[in-house]
Amino acid sequence: MLRSLLTRHAYMPLVSALQGESMFACLRELEETQFLEPEGLKRRQFEELRKTIRAAARIPFYRERGDPVDLADWEEFLELPVLEKAQVRAHYESLRHPGPGESQGHTSGSTGEPVRFTHGPLFRSRHEAGQWRARGWYGVRPGDGVLAVWGRPVGPAREWALLRLKSFLNHLLHVSAFDLSEEFIRGLYPRIRRLRPRLVYGYPSGLEVLARQAASDGFRLDDLGVRVVACTAEVLYGFQRELLEEAFGAPVADVYGCAEFGSFAHQCPQGRMHVACENVVVEFLDDSDRPVPSGTPGQVVVTSLHNPGMPLIRYRVGDMAVPIEGVCPCGRNLPLMDIRTGKVGQMVRTAGGRIFSTELFDYVNKNLLASGHRQIQAFHVVQTTLEDFTVRYVSEASEPGAALAACEKGLREVLGGQARVLFERVEEIPRHPGGKLGYFTCEVPPDAAP
Ligand SMILES: [Zn+2]
Repeated sequence: MLRSLLTRHAYMPLVSALQGESMFACLRELEETQFLEPEGLKRRQFEELRKTIRAAARIPFYRERGDPVDLADWEEFLELPVLEKAQVRAHYESLRHPGPGESQGHTSGSTGEPVRFTHGPLFRSRHEAGQWRARGWYGVRPGDGVLAVWGRPVGPAREWALLRLKSFLNHLLHVSAFDLSEEFIRGLYPRIRRLRPRLVYGYPSGLEVLARQAASDGFRLDDLGVRVVACTAEVLYGFQRELLEEAFGAPVADVYGCAEFGSFAHQCPQGRMHVACENVVVEFLDDSDRPVPSGTPGQVVVTSLHNPGMPLIRYRVGDMAVPIEGVCPCGRNLPLMDIRTGKVGQMVRTAGGRIFSTELFDYVNKNLLASGHRQIQAFHVVQTTLEDFTVRYVSEASEPGAALAACEKGLREVLGGQARVLFERVEEIPRHPGGKLGYFTCEVPPDAAP
């Protein structure tokens, strides 16, 4: 209780003040706008879009392309070309107009070098407020206890230490999805009980491991007072939803987003997924970049409305989703969508009993980039036994030794010392049919004993 109050009334407002953009002010606004009539919402969205286009007129990339400096109507916006990831990769510097307090991010780079982007303080406050609004639909407020099963930074230990400190101040228990061994999970039970989380969030695959382990140990998760289990970053399967709802005694909400825009679509208690249209413009386009009709899958194309330091305008995310017309019985007029694709979560198991999310490989890749090791363009890990991992990599460098050593160091942090890591240079990494290329393939027979 005291922790919640300190986080809500001291730490969070302090961070807001330091950022110069109040998350709480954004949240109050979003809590009202969600009930505006659809036309009112659309009008407001268009006004924000005009501001974005005017801000983008300062950005060399858009200026050189000959974009309009203002928008007359929606039609003019829909005539702008779609922005591809490859363009953002190639023109990173000319897509920016840096301001104070910007933070840099990367997309998952399993299909090649990740896309770099920056987020400003206004973006972060708006995004965070969008998340808290959706949690509020289930009675969760900023400052409430949060249990998160999520990736952790690999590489410099101070980054993980800093994240844990921030988590503590945010009243959040950050459970590393890269260490979900039986022993580790058992050690968490007293801390989870003390925390009494109202919100649980994370990768569905990681939450599933936690829920199964707790059930087999007889540790109850359904009497903690959890209001909602929010799943993100991976496909949420029906069986996982049932399992998590039963384990935590709370509804499960699917959350959709991507690294470039954060999470921007949230499932409400009526099971519909609402787009935070005050923060983003989301379009669903066919192969000729024309809008698909309601109920038809289309390519997700997003424009961020509050990131003037690096506005991404009509950016193709690389996912498919379905626009849904109509109103939700929950009474909120935010537009509806349905997401059916995304990454499939998978866990890695080792001989030492370690269990961790394949998101690890993304964190290893991010760490390589952050530490300047750019000689590996792409990599894919194949596990053949509980101890053997082959890293297939693509490199244009003749001697990528330093990058390989850094990659192995990152992997070993989680795989453990006894794992055998082999590197194999390949010309290209084949894609899985019809899907995104993940970082990992498991070829361990299912009956392999730990
Ligand atoms: Zn709803």
